[in-house]
Amino acid sequence: MKSHTRVLVIGGGVVGCSVLYHLAKAGWTDITLIERAELTAGSTWHAAGGFHTLNGDPNVAKLQQYTVELYREIEELSGQSCGLHLTGGVMLAGTKERMDWLKMAHAKGRYLGMHTEIISAAEAKKLMPLIDEKQFAGAMYDPLEGHLDPYGTTHAYAKSAKILGAEIVLRNRVVDMAQREDGSWDVVTEQGSIHAEHVVNCGGLWARECGRMVGLELPVLAMEHMYFLTEDMPEVAEINASTGKEVITALDFEGEIYMRQERGGMLLGTYEQACVPWSEKVTPWDFGQNLLDPDLDRIAPSLEVGFRHFPAFENAGIRRVINGPFTFAPDGNPLVGPIRGLRNYWVACGVMAGFSQGGGVGLALSNWMVHGDPGFDVWGMDVARYGDWTTLSHTNAKVRENYARRFRIRFPNEELPAARPFRTTPVYDRLESRNAVFGDMNGLEHALWFAPSKAEARDEFSFRRANDFPHVAAECAAVREGVGLLEISNFAKYEISGKGAEAWLDTILPNRLPARGRMVLTPMLNENGMLIGDFTLAREADDRFMIFGSGLAEQYHMRWFQAHLPEAGVTLRAHGLDLVGLQVAGPKSRELLARLVDADLSKETFPFMAVGRFNVGTVPALIGRVTYTGDLGYEIWVKSEHQRALFDLLMKEGAGLGIRLFGGRALNALRLEKSFGSWSREYRPIYTPWEAGLERFVSTQKSEFIGRDALLRARDEGPRRRLATFVVDALDADVIGDEPIWRDGKVVGWVTSGGYAHHAKASVALGYVEAAAFDATAPYEIEIIGERRPARIAPEPLFDPKGLRMRG
Ligand SMILES: Cc1cc2nc3c(=O)[nH]c(=O)nc-3n(C[C@H](O)[C@H](O)[C@H](O)COP(=O)(O)OP(=O)(O)OC[C@H]3O[C@@H](n4cnc5c(N)ncnc54)[C@H](O)[C@@H]3O)c2cc1C
Repeated sequence: MKSHTRVLVIGGGVVGCSVLYHLAKAGWTDITLIERAELTAGSTWHAAGGFHTLNGDPNVAKLQQYTVELYREIEELSGQSCGLHLTGGVMLAGTKERMDWLKMAHAKGRYLGMHTEIISAAEAKKLMPLIDEKQFAGAMYDPLEGHLDPYGTTHAYAKSAKILGAEIVLRNRVVDMAQREDGSWDVVTEQGSIHAEHVVNCGGLWARECGRMVGLELPVLAMEHMYFLTEDMPEVAEINASTGKEVITALDFEGEIYMRQERGGMLLGTYEQACVPWSEKVTPWDFGQNLLDPDLDRIAPSLEVGFRHFPAFENAGIRRVINGPFTFAPDGNPLVGPIRGLRNYWVACGVMAGFSQGGGVGLALSNWMVHGDPGFDVWGMDVARYGDWTTLSHTNAKVRENYARRFRIRFPNEELPAARPFRTTPVYDRLESRNAVFGDMNGLEHALWFAPSKAEARDEFSFRRANDFPHVAAECAAVREGVGLLEISNFAKYEISGKGAEAWLDTILPNRLPARGRMVLTPMLNENGMLIGDFTLAREADDRFMIFGSGLAEQYHMRWFQAHLPEAGVTLRAHGLDLVGLQVAGPKSRELLARLVDADLSKETFPFMAVGRFNVGTVPALIGRVTYTGDLGYEIWVKSEHQRALFDLLMKEGAGLGIRLFGGRALNALRLEKSFGSWSREYRPIYTPWEAGLERFVSTQKSEFIGRDALLRARDEGPRRRLATFVVDALDADVIGDEPIWRDGKVVGWVTSGGYAHHAKASVALGYVEAAAFDATAPYEIEIIGERRPARIAPEPLFDPKGLRMRG
């Protein structure tokens, strides 16, 4: 083993080997992988080896497609077979809702260039003769499905990496590591120490333990998982003989089972409801290539359904049962990327589908390390979507919930119940007693809408408009006609102060900084000129600023801020829940606030985008004259100990003005009719400000800011796509996001978000259209639950296009 390496990858599972290969391919060849035992010795060796491209997040789906297409490349380079069986596969729907879900997955796949097909149950039977077609409503066929040899594939990655110059050291555990001042690592292994510029944690089943070596508690947990292999089956032999092919893979959502052919029999696995975590707190280092005790009783309910749906299994003998552990993050997607505040420490773990995702994970991480950017939209698997707020037991509850729901439908209005409420603000009880239906954002409860009674305060899950519809409509009307109150504590709030604050913000943000007592909207860009943030920036004093942004992205933004912070002169603080907020919006909001604030709030003295400190009644507050509703309104920020008093004051004083609580769903409806985009939907690192319609918030006159050169290049080249607001001729369902946009029989774009804009009385979709296909007068179609609905571009916002209300 050498004494110095540019990158040290911990772990020789499929993920570590893929990371190693992709780094070597990108030209970083002074790299070392250290494996505790043998390659595949974690969860990789006993995997069923299935792969597919389907994923709820289309960006992750795209990386899965990349993974499947990569296998030929590593086979050719290494000379090592991956044992590929690209059989194609069917995903079988037993209910109408599941069929709707498949149609939507199929539609999403269209703009990703995937070639899935929606087929009838009879057609599915022809492709997969083992099914009883009477049990199914239909299916989706995906030609990019199949299975492979986990051992061969991992070795193909490893051999390819070695051919390109990488080193692999086996039977050598990493036991500890310490960081030097320059950010590099002294890594202690059983065979001695090695100095590494970067460390990548691909520890799989031991990823938590490898994280703990540097004081990090990663939100991952291993679950037991079972599949069995049958004896040879005559039905399988018959299919092989009559088609000349292997039986294709199948996924049965209602049975929560997957299957494929294995030699002359079948392999069948389940995601059972009675799921069991493994090694909940610590994974033992002496866990070898062992299997866990099988427990067929646990999977009996799934098998019962399976036998009904696939009758041939009833007579099949079981040859072998495999029960092994593998790891999950709380939402089931991988944890990839750099860790905030830990220089040169990277993770690629929680990869639950290593053979579908391992290639994409390796590519994204190597791009990130070598080029400073993953090169794709990896938000869905960025480790920064979790933060300090997770705990071991919260992760445990969420991972179990996710495992049991692996093959369940998640409706767009469905909030998952495990481990809730977990984080609450002081007004939570106030909102709950007024029949709030809550959503969960980063474990924080926030009101989605308010029901007329306790009994009605629950969502009826649906892909179509649901029971909240009239109540959200009433909340929107209250804002547009009078005054509404919304809790906004789930925004992120950062305070930046110090002598160097102004200069630093000027470098990291592309807009001009506001004057004292003023605010501006500003995106944030990476070096490639792509959108990595969308903020309101307020200036309280010459050397003191506040940034308000997406609460979802707090870790993501803090990671960026901290990585770009100068050594001295700037103090940065994320306020979290020590600063909480309420917003009042609507034409009567000024009147309400004026009754409580002993200061002149007129348009002349406290105009649109003004910010200042006031007492609201007894409560000291920071008030900004801005709201995301696009109406007259104010964001009021207070210390958490004052939030209840502020809430009570506003509700009491507002009673005479007809104040009404509103929630996140109404806010969404209101911003849609203003064509306001939102972070992680319209604004993501795959779009430039020119494409996203944010050009008025970048100042190319400024001589220096991150991303400036790339931004100017992008301007000169012209946008590849453009964000547009569509009015859709919808029936009883609105867009959710990721639907394809059609023009002249071709897919020319995709929806980023949408819904029903109650005040404008229109079904609205925001989405990106290829620049050449953008024509505000052309007819478009947007595919909603398998049906193409006519749509047209709205040339200006549907509500208050001149912004008179907002500025009034
Ligand atoms: C029963 C079962 C069936 C499955 N079926 C499928 C399937 O069909 N398709 C699919 O895509 N996925 C499947 N999986 C999941 C798949 O196995 C995982 O996604 C994959 O193995 C994850 O790989 P990894 O490299 O992240 O982790 P691991 O395979 O656990 O690798 C981690 C490696 O790191 C090493 N290591 C850890 N700590 C240290 C240290 N301190 N020093 C040195 N080395 C260290 C370990 O020894 C290990 O080799 C299945 C899993 C199970 C259990």
